[in-house]
Amino acid sequence: MKVLVINCGSSSLKYQLIDSASEEVLAKGLCERIGIDGRLVYQKEGLDKEITEAPMPTHKEAIQMVLDALTNPVSGAISNLSEIEAVGHRIVHGGEKFSGSALVDDAMIEAVAECTELAPLHNPANLIGINVCKELMPGVPMVGCFDTAFHQTMPDYAYLYGIPYEYYEKYKIRKYGFHGTSHSFVSRETAKFLDLDINNSKIIVCHLGNGASISAVLNGKCVDTSMGLTPLAGLVMGTRSGDIDPAVIEYLGHKLGASVEEVLEILNKKSGVLGLSKYLSSDFRDLGEAALNGNMYASIALNVFDYNVVKKIGSYVAAMNGVDAIAFTAGIGENDRFVRAKILDSFGYLGITVDKERNKVRGRNVKISTDDSKVDVVVIPTNEELAICRETVAIVSNTAR
Ligand code: AMP
Repeated sequence: MKVLVINCGSSSLKYQLIDSASEEVLAKGLCERIGIDGRLVYQKEGLDKEITEAPMPTHKEAIQMVLDALTNPVSGAISNLSEIEAVGHRIVHGGEKFSGSALVDDAMIEAVAECTELAPLHNPANLIGINVCKELMPGVPMVGCFDTAFHQTMPDYAYLYGIPYEYYEKYKIRKYGFHGTSHSFVSRETAKFLDLDINNSKIIVCHLGNGASISAVLNGKCVDTSMGLTPLAGLVMGTRSGDIDPAVIEYLGHKLGASVEEVLEILNKKSGVLGLSKYLSSDFRDLGEAALNGNMYASIALNVFDYNVVKKIGSYVAAMNGVDAIAFTAGIGENDRFVRAKILDSFGYLGITVDKERNKVRGRNVKISTDDSKVDVVVIPTNEELAICRETVAIVSNTAR
């Protein structure tokens, strides 16, 4: 089955056309600057990237251009749109309504719209993607895959905040967690790779990218995760602060003469390792190099990041009363062996030992712990598009039966 995977942002859109049988990416790319001017990046498997500047006033023109590129007689990956048998959409927030992926129908569209308050930047864009695909590819089954769904198995004592219970009842204020598609994919891949029985396993997934989160996965189900009501919570990230004393918001607002919204903007966009390094960079490659060259603030930023990851992993070992495997994924988790080594240095008490040579391997699943390490540590490249494709095929095939 050929599946088109769509990930709509507010002014951008990423896409992949995947053959679900071979799991081969037939074509992929993105549309940028939607509503500003417009740029399509398209790459057919085995060919160079094509870049086309063209007006994209809305997501409709963007998706139409993607479909035109996919069916282009010269460089297209398919000859006819009817070859696309299903579309999988990434949706950021499903609130408490979705504990798994589901077929897109009117009820889902309504439910996603109701969750807009919880993800005001993302859910409207995701809905536009769904509506435009419905219009341009009528009758093609579509599946919504939620970033929050995998975390819906958390027990109430893990997802509730220590605030009056009525705010949870009235306003659904609780921890939801994000990056769920990645945590689900990587935890399953980890179990498969290490030959663990997923139904009898304790896995900690460290999704360390520009946005970063960690989850505790017990017997294949998420029991805790570091992000919260929004992706601002948890670890110190590229530009996000992660957890802080909530009173900082009022105190800093007072000092700067800034509104709550303005302080939140600082916490989302100017904090994390970017802010800690005195705005040197949010990119770990820059920070690593600067730290090596003696930049004190780059070192401080990296130390704060590493320490936060160490504490979160330790707390999830406690939450699950043990751990069988720790998996690293996403931009930093997959590529930065120095960060991994530094973090893992703190787990001598768990009997973890790292194989220096294995820790240098990149681009594929690899066990980086030694064979006698008491806990397996792996690097598993995440693949959210493939995960969405798999979910889409499973749901469409089930519905067709
Ligand atoms: P992601 O959000 O998963 O795409 O991760 C992006 C982040 O990964 C970048 O901002 C960098 O901090 C980090 N990253 C990417 N490549 C490398 C690398 N080769 N070494 C260290 N960090 C990297």
